[in-house]
Amino acid sequence: MSDQSPSAGPVSAALFERAERLIPGGVNSPVRAFRAVGGTPLFIARARGSRVEDEDGRSYLDYIGSWGPMILGHGHPAVVDAIRSQIAQGASFGAPCRLEVEMAEELVARVPSLERVRMVNSGTEATMAAVRLARGATGRSKIVKFEGCYHGHGDAFLIKAGSGAATFGVPDSPGVTKGTAHDTLTAAFNDLAGVALRFAEHPRDIAAVIVEPVVGNMGVVSPRPGFLEGLRDLCTRDGTVLILDEVMTGFRVARGGAQERFGVRADLTTLGKIIGGGLPVGAYGGRSDLMAQVAPEGPVYQAGTLSGNPLAMAAGLATLRQIEATDGFYETLERLGSRLEAGVAAHLARSGYPCRLARVGSMWTLFFTGDEVRDWNGASRCDTSRFARFFHEMLRRGVSLAPSQFEANFLSIAHTEADIDETCAAAGDALAVAWA
Ligand SMILES: *Cc1c(COP(=O)(O)O)cnc(C)c1O
Repeated sequence: MSDQSPSAGPVSAALFERAERLIPGGVNSPVRAFRAVGGTPLFIARARGSRVEDEDGRSYLDYIGSWGPMILGHGHPAVVDAIRSQIAQGASFGAPCRLEVEMAEELVARVPSLERVRMVNSGTEATMAAVRLARGATGRSKIVKFEGCYHGHGDAFLIKAGSGAATFGVPDSPGVTKGTAHDTLTAAFNDLAGVALRFAEHPRDIAAVIVEPVVGNMGVVSPRPGFLEGLRDLCTRDGTVLILDEVMTGFRVARGGAQERFGVRADLTTLGKIIGGGLPVGAYGGRSDLMAQVAPEGPVYQAGTLSGNPLAMAAGLATLRQIEATDGFYETLERLGSRLEAGVAAHLARSGYPCRLARVGSMWTLFFTGDEVRDWNGASRCDTSRFARFFHEMLRRGVSLAPSQFEANFLSIAHTEADIDETCAAAGDALAVAWA
């Protein structure tokens, strides 16, 4: 693949060759491999503020933001100091520590529906544990997830509807058993009638509905008015646990996450990314009566050697407190986001290219389709080969975007108006080349 690498410099390309020999696909998480856009990935050596620098010494404006955690930008002094002073006290104890209590207090104070919380090490762990808890508490086996929503790599989530929109899901990955697929029902995002149908087909057998309240993992897709409220009603009526997966949206789209922004109350919420400040972390929590079912208080087992790790707690707490200490934090992100949206929209209006910038706060995706994207079906109509050209043209102009059409890009508080204007100018040029 390296000969068709239009963007990686020689040092990155050489590192990727070494990586490919030893690591599947040369990466430790698939989307990093650039397969969706061609070429080979940049190896990042360091990052500061809104910029990353690769092993070839090239600097880029960064909109990956480690896929969400870096809302303060890279290397924020408050986070660096917190990690530094914690490591001097010890990296991990395998015993309770003060920072875990402080983290639980900070989370519960911000997310409206969060009464109690358990820390884990990744978003994947959080969603797996939340579903187990929902099943344990309800005694039911099925879950509903939405096509195009990503909840980590747990077996139960690697399912989408087959082409006949069959009632039962088909695994997306070998190694996921038919039994697991049988217990995961799917519906289209924003299609309340489809969800109601699942409830009608499986009355009192659905343990949980899990949803990204704002989807980031098929590109940014907003919930239509009434969709989340409708899910809340359906779940309440059937005694089903509503899990809002806020691993991406938590502390990103509002202080209290998407559930604050859209006024919907979850039974369980999953968190990750921002609450680790760039270190590995996850959390799940919600209704007190449900969380009382978790071991050792209750019978639903879940554990972790490094859970509540002091370094991750220190980095996450510093991040949350820095957000709180910054006047108008979310308003600033919103202003930067709308500046970006307006700048790109101006280019699109002038050129007539059939693209749309979808944005919720500081999450955004430039969809290569003329139609509004409301679900996976709509997202899958995007012109991914033109997106790939655009992506590489942006890299060439020093702007690093998520290397797939079906991902969110992230603004941080470290992005400046000048950064945004530079990005819009680059986008104007890159769009023209992509359509040349
Ligand atoms: C990133 C993400 C996950 C998975 O988190 P990991 O830490 O990568 O395991 C789950 N759900 C959503 C919505 C995410 O964006």
